[in-house]
Amino acid sequence: MYEKPLPIIDPDTAPYWKASTEHRLLIKHCRDCGQHHFYPRELCPHCHSDAVDWVQAKGTGSIYSFTIARRPAGPAFKPDAPYVVAIVALDEGPRMMTNITGSPPESIRIGQRVVVAYEDINEDVSLPKFNLSAA
Ligand SMILES: [Zn+2]
Repeated sequence: MYEKPLPIIDPDTAPYWKASTEHRLLIKHCRDCGQHHFYPRELCPHCHSDAVDWVQAKGTGSIYSFTIARRPAGPAFKPDAPYVVAIVALDEGPRMMTNITGSPPESIRIGQRVVVAYEDINEDVSLPKFNLSAA
């Protein structure tokens, strides 16, 4: 049984979560100013336009900042500790909070290239985490 808190899926974010189960990372793109944003919003945070569309991100980026969580955020996270909580700067521009998985926490550095790697939780939710790029 999965004991960690799960995202609340509402109509605004349903397309994002549906795509996640297909391992596709959706972000919003503004037709007026041309910029991307994340988390998804109804209005562009750069220019306040409502001309925003879902687009598929490449799923690549670099580590903007991170911390190693040695004390878990709660009992459900205890088996994972130590784990890496990071802010990844997507190549499209937006930054997202996530986990870096698949590598020892001590090997993580700011600026490293990463690629999205989904953790399938249930039929409605897959969580976008990131692994270090092989290259
Ligand atoms: Zn805009």
